[in-house]
Amino acid sequence: MYDVIALGELLIDFTPAGFSDNGNTLFEMNPGGAPANVLTAVTKLGGKGAFIGKVGDDQFGYFLKKVLENNQINTDGLKFATKANTTLAFVHLDDKGDRSFTFYRNPGADTMLEEEDIELDLIEKGKIFHFGSLSMTDEPSKSATLKAIEYAKQNKKIISYDPNWRPPLWENETVAKKEMVLGLQYADIVKLSEDELQFLTGESNLEYGSKTLFDMGIKLVLVTLGAKGCYYRHTSGTGHIPAYRVNVVDTTGAGDAFLGAVLYNISKMDYSLEKLEAQELEKIIDFANATGALCTTKRGAIPAMPTLEEVKYLLVHGVKSL
Ligand code: ATP
Repeated sequence: MYDVIALGELLIDFTPAGFSDNGNTLFEMNPGGAPANVLTAVTKLGGKGAFIGKVGDDQFGYFLKKVLENNQINTDGLKFATKANTTLAFVHLDDKGDRSFTFYRNPGADTMLEEEDIELDLIEKGKIFHFGSLSMTDEPSKSATLKAIEYAKQNKKIISYDPNWRPPLWENETVAKKEMVLGLQYADIVKLSEDELQFLTGESNLEYGSKTLFDMGIKLVLVTLGAKGCYYRHTSGTGHIPAYRVNVVDTTGAGDAFLGAVLYNISKMDYSLEKLEAQELEKIIDFANATGALCTTKRGAIPAMPTLEEVKYLLVHGVKSL
């Protein structure tokens, strides 16, 4: 059995890493892609994970497969595209460590995942099925993603969804919203930012926006707020859990680290998501805040995922923001 099966993009994040002798920005080749990041967070904490996706039949693709293997992730569901290269994303960091992206994906191998590529038996062996919105920007990966979600749903898996909003990857906002909302209809757990909440629900108010999602049938809504922590809504109630204070280097992957930590803990439960009590849920979110915070202290996403020991240390010795 696997704790989490994640489907979606696996790509290279070129992260700024200082300057050359002539003053130009240097970029470091970091493995990334939100679903792969989430899975690495799970396995780094000690959970079991398997990945479903596609990379190019090129040096970047081979490197990424190795990275997953080195992080104890099953790669039986990782396929190689012959007609597209591995997707590349250049990360630009501002003074606060917040980032924006430039994608090289025309098309990228991740969008070439086909329905026939999906190893359904892997999905069957997982407790949680996780996906994001980037595999729904283009065909054939959109149909492949929907097939996988439908299969996971039929097999009563817990469905986790991160509607990452990356405007340059969509034809226009209307299409983006329609497809991203489609993902919400399948989800039990959703993790999103305030901007994504506003984009999808039209509500900037956390309470009203999360209620809209809850009323759609989502059992656990997690709105991550960067250095301010997380707001949640669940049957047991709503609340805000503050973040940990850390020295931020690069926020890439913090949301994925956070979500991976939530899924890691939920996969260990022997009762249903609805039965989770408020106190236990708050502990899970606090643990996820610590995991997200630690991820911001190093460059890149996958290389920055913390171990269980590191998270436990911060939980005991860390200082929380107000
Ligand atoms: P993504 O861009 O990957 O979708 P996100 O916007 O959902 O991420 P954030 O809200 O930036 O994710 O971060 C997720 C969690 O990581 C936060 O809820 C918080 O617990 C922790 N975190 C992020 N940034 C910081 C920070 N500057 N200081 C402390 N903790 C942070």
